[in-house]
Amino acid sequence: MINLDNYSSIFIANWKLNGNYSFLKEYYEKLKVNSNNCTIICSSSIYLQSLKGNNKNLFCGAQDVSLFKEGAYTGELSASMLRDNNIDFCLVGHSERRQYFAETNNNVKTKSLNLIEENIIPVICIGETLEQKENNLTEEILFTQIKESIPNSATHQNALIAYEPVWAIGTGLTPTLDEINQVHELIKNFDQKFINYKVLYGGSVKSSNSKEITELTHVDGCLIGGASLKVDEFNTIIS
Ligand code: PEP
Repeated sequence: MINLDNYSSIFIANWKLNGNYSFLKEYYEKLKVNSNNCTIICSSSIYLQSLKGNNKNLFCGAQDVSLFKEGAYTGELSASMLRDNNIDFCLVGHSERRQYFAETNNNVKTKSLNLIEENIIPVICIGETLEQKENNLTEEILFTQIKESIPNSATHQNALIAYEPVWAIGTGLTPTLDEINQVHELIKNFDQKFINYKVLYGGSVKSSNSKEITELTHVDGCLIGGASLKVDEFNTIIS
């Protein structure tokens, strides 16, 4: 398993349902990975094999994994299949999966458990909606998501947490820097066992705000959606 402690920051590109072979070729020709950081590209699973290169600081991640280990589940991709293909990371519980595919905290927990068993690092995504934020429910929602989505076998060495306020994803809106830092501190302090977890921030990160976000004391990197599709923009973020 990758030693997360070797990296000062972690940057994850979430390409969502975007990309094709020519996109990928051009992207890789221009991508400049920084050796202090761990950079992970989460493409659609069908392209993951083509993404694997020789750069020791560049990793591939899946965007989802099956709840099931094997059997009659047409269209699914299991954690052991990802391992078989040397995939080291996998997003779980992204708000788009929670929203459009009815993924529950319990599903996220099972998927994370299956991934950890296969030595794949789950990137467990949590975050509140705008309505929850406006009703001062952020802490309560995050606490419930953490309690119900993170399996007991998870540790700071085999799992990552991504704080992604749902209202900040793809909207151009972000919490203030103080808010981001406070929420990350809160997550790390929910329980003693989370103190050393790496917690990434996601939600409208771009080259113009990534530096100040990444420099926050309790932020250990970023999960980037839209801006990660532009390689020059992503290069600036990870530089
Ligand atoms: C995401 O999809 O995880 C995300 C953070 O998207 P964006 O950067 O586009 O807000």
